[in-house]
Order: sequence, then C-alpha cells, then structure tokens
Amino acid sequence: MSVQKKTKTCPSCEGRMRRGIREQEVSFQRHVLKYSQPGWWCKSCDEGILEGEDNEVHDAALHEVMARAKKSPLSPLLIRIAREAVGVSQREAGRVFGGGPTAFYKYETARSIPSASMANLLRLALQRPDLFAKPAQNDFRLPTPKDIALLHKTAMTDRLDVLMRRVYPDVVA
Ligand SMILES: [Zn+2]
Repeated sequence: MSVQKKTKTCPSCEGRMRRGIREQEVSFQRHVLKYSQPGWWCKSCDEGILEGEDNEVHDAALHEVMARAKKSPLSPLLIRIAREAVGVSQREAGRVFGGGPTAFYKYETARSIPSASMANLLRLALQRPDLFAKPAQNDFRLPTPKDIALLHKTAMTDRLDVLMRRVYPDVVA
C-alpha cells in the first residue's frame, strides 16, 4: 500500500516542496499562453517538478500555443473534445472525418493543423456528436435511420422530395 507523500525535498536547495497550482507561461514562436500548472513547488526557491498528469497539463498548454502560432482554425483541445464526444479513437476519427489514420494524432499535438473545412466539420461535431456516430457493424443501410431523421428536418424542393420517395419508397414514409 503506497502512502501519498505530502512533501518532497527540493533537488536545488533541499527546501521543502508541496503540491500546488502555479500560474505558468508556455511560449512558442513569440506566442505566449498563461495557464495553471499543477506540480510540486519549492517554498524556498523557484524549483518545480512535474510528474504524471502534471505533464499532460503542460503538454496540452504547449499544443494550444503551438496551434495558435500555426494559425490553426480550431484549438487542439476542442478537436479532442469533439472526437471524444463522438466516441472514436484518433485512428477511427481519421475515417469518420477524413484525413487518414494519423491526422488526429497530428491535430491534437499541433504537429499539423486542420483545414478550414475540417474545422467546420469538427465544430458541427461539437454541437451534434450524434451525427458522427459510427454505424454498427453489419447494420449499414442507405439511408440510415439518422439520415431519415435529418431528412424530416430538411427543407427540400418538391422535385427532390419526390425523387427521394421514389428511390426509397419504404424508408421515406
Ligand atoms: Zn528549492
């Protein structure tokens, strides 16, 4: 059974370090982001130690500022939120939204930025993640029940309405 230590010895000054949150800055190509960094902080000097999830916070802040510097149309964190709202892995997201198997890994770590059209699609996913859910295996038909539900909300010309009803007489009742 491990005991959560309340203090650590500072490697720089041998002072006492405690857990806490400090405002820190992360910068990339003259872009600066202030954020709240959890970690171990020395009471006597400026030393800080990040461990475990502390690094995740630091990396997320760095990716945000990198994406700003690269003029990304959407924040890497928002991209991740959109993807997780839809409920797909990074690799699956490359199929659901396009871009290939490594696109979302690159977007979420600001190694590359999404196109404006991809950003629009991901904003839509943030509002309506249900629209992007994967079809169940072996249960794929065109149009899907979700497509039909959307049709009922869509203003169509009479000509297209008739066309849909002729092509799919059973599903578009
Ligand atoms: Zn210290």
